Amino acid sequence: MFTEDDFIMISALQHYVYCPRQCGLIHVDDVWQENLFTTRGNILHEKVDTDTYETRGAVKTVRGLRIHSFYYGIVGRCDVVEFRENQNGKIVLPVEYKSGEPKEDISDKVQLCAQVLCMEEMLNTKITQGAFFYGKIRRRNIVEIDISLRSKTENIINSVREIVSSQKIPSAEYKAKCRNCSLYSVCQPKAMNKRKIKNYIEELYLP
Ligand code: SF4
Repeated sequence: MFTEDDFIMISALQHYVYCPRQCGLIHVDDVWQENLFTTRGNILHEKVDTDTYETRGAVKTVRGLRIHSFYYGIVGRCDVVEFRENQNGKIVLPVEYKSGEPKEDISDKVQLCAQVLCMEEMLNTKITQGAFFYGKIRRRNIVEIDISLRSKTENIINSVREIVSSQKIPSAEYKAKCRNCSLYSVCQPKAMNKRKIKNYIEELYLP
């Protein structure tokens, strides 16, 4: 069990999947810079994060629900959570709003799974599905919160905790996704690669 002082943000898990160095820069060094992609996401979340709820028929919808897990030591917030009851009991469905379209990596799914882990602990219930609403394709996609996703999410939580508790920021490796990274100018991955090569050559040839 963790205490509130040990909590890591669920957003750190997404940053880690995108790039462990990005996670370190944001969650160890407190570096943050906006770019087109982060601004689009912010605009969408401003519309959704409203701390309100409404009931329509059998479905109660809560927006901006704050969540945490003492077992996993994580904290965050859900865009939308839908609660409904049927003959099988209470059904809880977190729904995340994304400005783009489904990603190739698992960062969004890990975020959703971490939300589920929090709500299962807080509500003492089992949640089997979550959903995304993607602004670009205007469609809701259901995601199964299965054992494999739970295990990957737990591993990523452990990796992020290692970075945050050691305060060691992983080194940069230039890759295609660096071009879309909001921290490119701070990180300077190409310059760091050159420095690494230079150091390597010096270690090889200098006495
Ligand atoms: S620029 Fe590249 S290496 Fe640096 S934080 Fe961003 S994705 Fe990671």
